Amino acid sequence: MGKHSRILGLLALGLLGCGSAIAGTGCATEVREGFGDSDPNGSGDGSGSSDGPPANPEQPGCAQDEYTETLPTKASLADLLFSSATANDYLLDALELRFPLGKAIVAGGLSSSLAQTQGNCIDRFLSDKSSANAVLRQATTVVHECGHFYDLGEASGKSSAFVIRPDLKFTCKTGDTTSRGGKTFARSLIKGDGHYAKRKACASGTAGKDCDMYAPIYLDGNATDSKFDSGDQGYNSVLEEAAQYVNSLATALAFQDAYSGSKASERDGILTFLWYIERYLAMARTENPAAYELLSEDACWRQATLSVWDRGWFYLRETTGMTNLGINDAAIEALVSTPELTAEIDALRNLECK
Ligand SMILES: [Zn+2]
Repeated sequence: MGKHSRILGLLALGLLGCGSAIAGTGCATEVREGFGDSDPNGSGDGSGSSDGPPANPEQPGCAQDEYTETLPTKASLADLLFSSATANDYLLDALELRFPLGKAIVAGGLSSSLAQTQGNCIDRFLSDKSSANAVLRQATTVVHECGHFYDLGEASGKSSAFVIRPDLKFTCKTGDTTSRGGKTFARSLIKGDGHYAKRKACASGTAGKDCDMYAPIYLDGNATDSKFDSGDQGYNSVLEEAAQYVNSLATALAFQDAYSGSKASERDGILTFLWYIERYLAMARTENPAAYELLSEDACWRQATLSVWDRGWFYLRETTGMTNLGINDAAIEALVSTPELTAEIDALRNLECK
């Protein structure tokens, strides 16, 4: 990937804007209590298949409900000294105590080749260093964005890298759009499907109980004009965002005690991207055979998709009922769990996990 397209990719992934400028529109993860209520729904989720292949945690992508990794701890942070001047170190030390995997992802972002042109991913996305709690509440954004740095640094040419954990990495080929050197289509096109009407894009810069506040950021633009928009990117970018929204939720779980009196949208974020994955697969299967051939017949894409799916549900189950980690998550979860859409995941699983 050339320097120019690398930066375009970075723009498109929301790196230039998330965490600071677009508060309240999906990048920012914190809103005031009373912004909206969610009714966590722990039953009948869309995490596993009903009568497909049995779960096999030893096989990449086939763990289903048996996916597991070391959960964040509730270790005391009382021994860490906070000062604004050393906020980056405070964040790294807090991650080490509570969520070592998150620290490893941030470290991967700091040492990424992308840092040479895009800078230090903590400095870029840790905007408020005024208090320990403020820093801890931004940890979700820092891990998410450093995770993008890590993956983009590991990518090369037409391949996309997904470092799910340091011991679970996928490098899959040609996942961007046909006009960007790959075999898939612009993610903005899923707004043309039959599911879009159930949760339409919020007006840009706004949020609401019944609209999708992520769509104006990630599904924007016209796929056929010459202007580059975030939504012009292909399936690789949908999966990359989903992978990082899992990290956002895991990090929010690690620092849940820093959210008292406020709400975060972390459950909404990953659920929205699980919904986009299902819708993208459905559109590929029904309207774009070449894209579907790649996503369903290439074991790398199948395993990466299923791994993000299973890990996402692992953290959704772990955060069930934590009302300050979601806003409209119950409504989005109902959409993700639509049998017609979970069938798309089952189809990949049947191919991969026989
Ligand atoms: Zn992102």
